[in-house]
Amino acid sequence: MGKLFSRLRRNARTAIQMVFFALSNGYAAGFWRGNIYKGPGKFVCVPGLNCYSCPGALGACPIGALQAVLSSREYKFAFYVTGFFLLFGALLGRLVCGFLCPFGLVQDLLYKIPFARKVARVPGDRFLRYVKYFILAGFVILLPLFAVDIIGQGQPWFCKYVCPSGTLFAGVPLLAANPPLREALGWLFTWKAAILASLLLLSAFVYRPFCRYLCPLGAIYGLFNPVAIYRFQVDQDKCVACGKCRQACKLNLAVNKTPNSAECIRCGDCLRACPTGAVRWGKRR
Ligand code: SF4
Ligand code: SF4
Repeated sequence: MGKLFSRLRRNARTAIQMVFFALSNGYAAGFWRGNIYKGPGKFVCVPGLNCYSCPGALGACPIGALQAVLSSREYKFAFYVTGFFLLFGALLGRLVCGFLCPFGLVQDLLYKIPFARKVARVPGDRFLRYVKYFILAGFVILLPLFAVDIIGQGQPWFCKYVCPSGTLFAGVPLLAANPPLREALGWLFTWKAAILASLLLLSAFVYRPFCRYLCPLGAIYGLFNPVAIYRFQVDQDKCVACGKCRQACKLNLAVNKTPNSAECIRCGDCLRACPTGAVRWGKRR
């Protein structure tokens, strides 16, 4: 019974991720009709990286929404999207990455493939972690804002040239259901399919490579980790410096030293691994 309970606890996060994925992509008819839902839900952002053009998507991706506002020729400050980031970030930090992001779920499932030898630390990891901030600044903010055509209209650079979540959840199902679209394929789809395939392959060996190195949404939420209302706290009186939290962390973070690192996706593995109960998740005191 005890073993069953601990197994259920271990798999609870995967169950939450799956339920949230199903809820935010509940327009199932879109997958076989090959079209996208355009109802009022699309005016509301979902917290994770969930492509607007996914046939099942009932809401909008916040990174896509931010680029849409910044690239518009009638540019206005993105109050709604900024407020959305502030709300989720200040409340939960990167808990969204660990529990509510569809592309995070895909990477988690691929990492469970048993035969692939796991790599805890990628060469250059320390520097690669900053790439996501360059993508946020360059592809999500500056290029959509300043690389505009003669009528002042920009493009959603990250969605168009990078986002592997969009390729997987929108590009692939839309192409599968619309044969005429397949005839119009060009270099751009080949480029994005190559990004997606590389990340999916890498995910079997390295834990969440996209979240670690490339995701602009993770970069935004990560900035909130140190100040979020719900956060990790380590009771130094209980900590015996055994290092079990770090061993359990697939991102190789020393949670007993930096419990609110911008890299932490709040998966909770360290919390379960701590033998003394020193790691605690809760409201900021
Ligand atoms: S520090 Fe803990 S919660 Fe954060 S990613 Fe590592 S194991 Fe997960
Ligand atoms: S597992 Fe717990 S007791 Fe061990 S180092 Fe981490 S926080 Fe401290």
